[in-house]
Amino acid sequence: MGSIPSEPPHIVCIPFPAQGHVNPFMNLAKLLHSRGFHITMVYTEFNHSRLLRSKGSEAVKNSPGFQFETIPDGVPPSNPDATQSVTELLYYTKKHSVVPLRDLIVKLNSTEGLPKVSCIISDGIMSFAIKVARELGIPEVQFWTASTCGLVAYLQFGELVKKSIFPLKDEKDVSNGYLEDTALEWIPGMQHMRLKDMPSFARSTDPEDIAFNRWLEEAQDILTADAIVFNTFVEFEAEVLETVSSMFPNIYNLGPLTTLNTNLIKNEVNGTRPSLWKENTDCLTWLDTQKPNSVIYLNFGSIAVMTEDNFKEFAWGLANSGHPFLWIVRPDVVKGTNGTVLPEEFLEETRDRSMIARWCPQDKVLAHPSVGAFLTHSGWNSTLEGICGGVPMLCWPFFAEQQVNCRYASTTWGVGLEIDSDVKREGVEALVREMMEGENGKVMRNKAVEWKKKSEIACVEGGSSYDDFERFVGYLLELST
Ligand code: UDP
Repeated sequence: MGSIPSEPPHIVCIPFPAQGHVNPFMNLAKLLHSRGFHITMVYTEFNHSRLLRSKGSEAVKNSPGFQFETIPDGVPPSNPDATQSVTELLYYTKKHSVVPLRDLIVKLNSTEGLPKVSCIISDGIMSFAIKVARELGIPEVQFWTASTCGLVAYLQFGELVKKSIFPLKDEKDVSNGYLEDTALEWIPGMQHMRLKDMPSFARSTDPEDIAFNRWLEEAQDILTADAIVFNTFVEFEAEVLETVSSMFPNIYNLGPLTTLNTNLIKNEVNGTRPSLWKENTDCLTWLDTQKPNSVIYLNFGSIAVMTEDNFKEFAWGLANSGHPFLWIVRPDVVKGTNGTVLPEEFLEETRDRSMIARWCPQDKVLAHPSVGAFLTHSGWNSTLEGICGGVPMLCWPFFAEQQVNCRYASTTWGVGLEIDSDVKREGVEALVREMMEGENGKVMRNKAVEWKKKSEIACVEGGSSYDDFERFVGYLLELST
């Protein structure tokens, strides 16, 4: 470990402006704060005002050694929907947030009484911060908040082009079985991969596809940072972590960050749960009334949107399964409907065995003993929170690297079943029954509990993530002496 610097080292944390990035960043920032680092958490102005609305002023109130700042996200008023589109946000932040970020760092460095910025930790999809850091001579760490298997898959985008797999030759290839039939056997550290399991952006016939090319670039750029942090644990993603280590040696695996937080944080700071929607905690009270392992919990995260038809197929599949469920229906999950598309007949039929809410404290829900299965879009945080709860999953990946996570859940990790992208009520009912009543479900539940135990071991003294956190603290201290 490095020698103790004369003033607290100052770390600037810059999460990408989406819920699945802000949450793990807050967990990392709190951990570092608990070890004496001065933290500046940088939100976009838009998210800052959303947090104020959903959580009140506590969400962005400074605590000793922990302060909040803002930069614009660059989204023009003419395109407000971009704040819900990761690919568009990626574009706007890259284009418009560079100068405000540089100005902010310069301002922080000239503020009297504030330690000089010793390191910037920015999101793995905000590589523009590396350029700002280089210009100002400050070390830069990239925090990749998604799965490592997701990153390794993005790092293969160039190879897909070289092997003439991307772009697709025909639009029909998306639905005619071609994606399933195209095995990708060359990827170092990855087994079982088909084109279908690659990040969704690889499904285009356009060689200039903007999303494909942006993600290709971001994944490559991350390798130019000084260090990379992952929210994973080595036992869970060993092979893909080896692949990344062989390209880039300075990596730190600190996951699941939620568990490390529970174990290490004694004094909470303000803004602890940076929830962009208002959390409904009645779900937990409702879960208290249900039997152990009996409830199916459905949540599609903060970004996924679906058609009304898809939504109704899920609804009737659930109703026909006969099992109790907790369904979080984000107001914009079905575009243009404000979440009010569930048929009256369905509500009537399931009223005595269901709860529907708009947003919940998901990590707490998944840790509740009544939850028996998680129907998820396979976002990385959701996947890890499911593992921390020891809950098996029904996966309906929406976009980005969720396809990869789903594949890993249903093969490598043995905790998930995949729902067909063209979802039908019969399919949902059959998979729910298989998970809740079948032998297969039992095997997956046991596997999920095994992974939960391994994740807990990783986060106590002597465990892989715990030790890597110590190593990371040492590294950051070195940087500031
Ligand atoms: N989340 C939550 N309540 C909800 C839905 C989601 O607290 O009702 C949190 C969830 O716990 C996770 C994050 O939002 O930490 C979603 O991240 P994920 O990577 O799973 O998916 P994304 O939203 O990025 O698609």
